[in-house]
Amino acid sequence: MKYVLVTGGVVSGLGKGVTASSIGVLLKACGLRVTSIKIDPYLNTDAGTMSPFEHGEVFVLDDGGEVDLDLGNYERFLDIKLTRDNNITTGKIYQSVIDKERRGDYLGKTVQVVPHITDAIQEWIERVAMIPVDGKEGAADVCVIELGGTIGDIESMPFIEALGQFSYRVGPGNFCLVHVSLVPVLNVVGEQKTKPTQHSVRGLRGLGLTPDILACRSAKPLEENVKDKLSQFCHVPAANIVTLYDVSNIWHIPLLLRDQKAHEAILKVLNLHGVARKPLLDEWTRRAELCDMLQEPVRIAMVGKYTGLSDSYLSVLKALLHASIACRRKLTVEWVPATDLEDTTAKETPDVYKAAWNLLKGADGILVPGGFGDRGVQGKILAAKYARENNVPFLGICLGMQIAVIEYARSILGLQDANSTEFDPDTKSPCVIFMPEGSKTHMGGTMRLGSRRTYFQVTDCKSAKLYGNVNYVDERHRHRYEVNPDMITELEDAGLSFVGKDETGRRMEILELHSHPYFVGVQFHPEFKSRPGKPSALFLGLIAAACGQLEAVMQHSGHVSMVAMKNCMSNGTLPAKAYRNGSANKAANGSLNGSLYCNGNGVHV
Ligand code: GLN
Repeated sequence: MKYVLVTGGVVSGLGKGVTASSIGVLLKACGLRVTSIKIDPYLNTDAGTMSPFEHGEVFVLDDGGEVDLDLGNYERFLDIKLTRDNNITTGKIYQSVIDKERRGDYLGKTVQVVPHITDAIQEWIERVAMIPVDGKEGAADVCVIELGGTIGDIESMPFIEALGQFSYRVGPGNFCLVHVSLVPVLNVVGEQKTKPTQHSVRGLRGLGLTPDILACRSAKPLEENVKDKLSQFCHVPAANIVTLYDVSNIWHIPLLLRDQKAHEAILKVLNLHGVARKPLLDEWTRRAELCDMLQEPVRIAMVGKYTGLSDSYLSVLKALLHASIACRRKLTVEWVPATDLEDTTAKETPDVYKAAWNLLKGADGILVPGGFGDRGVQGKILAAKYARENNVPFLGICLGMQIAVIEYARSILGLQDANSTEFDPDTKSPCVIFMPEGSKTHMGGTMRLGSRRTYFQVTDCKSAKLYGNVNYVDERHRHRYEVNPDMITELEDAGLSFVGKDETGRRMEILELHSHPYFVGVQFHPEFKSRPGKPSALFLGLIAAACGQLEAVMQHSGHVSMVAMKNCMSNGTLPAKAYRNGSANKAANGSLNGSLYCNGNGVHV
């Protein structure tokens, strides 16, 4: 196993996660198998209890791990499936050491940060790096480790110490340190400043780690004399200094690294020079260029709680983007704070209310993402009602599905007080209720989490077609409440179809309104399994419906017919082509197994 450690200096928010994922992509393009580990030096055991507003979205893995959103970047960029142990936190490490101490494993010893915590970190890394994550047997060739935070943070000290020891333990030729830093330009002089990077490299060295590669974030490419200066003062060869200058979309980053021969530098440090091939990044190149070229917009209103911070809904945004590119549209997300749609806003700040409704009404499609707590719930219900009554394509995810049920019960069944017991524990019409396996006293890791199976109840529905006419799909979950099984008959009799259920048939997973162009609600989170080349089926459905391509996309989700494909392209209904491998009855595993292809020049998005 070879290790690439990615650290960050100077300031946070440099895009270390995207850089580390892009290094992974580049190495994968050289023919290597790549896995990854993210270290978060905070004390929380996992990201599950952290507010998306403070820390960005909580990403959910197949095994139910609630992890840092950077793991989502790794899964999307490398098309892998990680485990909860691929996210190391201080909380997890201390918990494992304290458990061992209580068991008596250190009997007689004083348990200390060095060596016990630092040993536990190294053992954890070595163990987790060996877990196969790409569907193949055996361990990967390279493990990319990203150390969260910035060099100098107090809480990352045990990790730095452990990684310093680790580099010595695995020996030269097996460990490569990439330090991501900032080279700012001061407006007055217009000169690229190297001092912050010099300082952060000095800090790194002082802690026992020597950078092999410097990845410098800057607005423009580094000037040669700046590189020379950095090389001289940081003791890193100029060939090992790459610039991550601003680009139009993140898919350019692996290309940027390749163009500056970052792979050659890394492979040399890792003694893999003769083993790896030249990087093949044609698909990435075409995707990055295509993304820049798109002009015709598709406008999606995101009706959520944390609309001020796009990281709160990162995977949803990525899934929308993957689907938009497949439909050859430029994605425009209209952020609509759910509370702004409510009557109280109309009274207090009518302008805000009007602006929010204008945004909603101007959208081609409406998405209500997952959420917790009752703030903005009424606004989300109003958005679902608007979409239902005005035939606007709608996708409700998790809470978004639950509020669609509440809205239907109120409007169509006439149950005025219909609600979720999450928001009104005493409601007389509880159409969404607490799940028996949840916990109301312990918040960490007590939801229905991770990959669960949904069985289609009928074949003639939009979601089954979009998934490629499969019998079942596996998607990731994160919820404590569910549609009340005792109200299903009443809701179904009134026209709300639950077309996907779990294996017991008592848990509702997918709802649809047949009479509506596209009204879909899902208890799971399809966004977590969307990939750049394989958009999630239901996001593709939303975007396709929003730009008038749904019929064509559904027709081609199950199989490919060259004649139909040519027809679509010549009459312009479907520039992108849904293309699925495998037989109709095979499971889709939550996303289209095949890829989406573009027209004649073979663009693969
Ligand atoms: N709050 C709801 C529940 O716990 C929805 C959760 C979500 O949207 N992820 O069931």
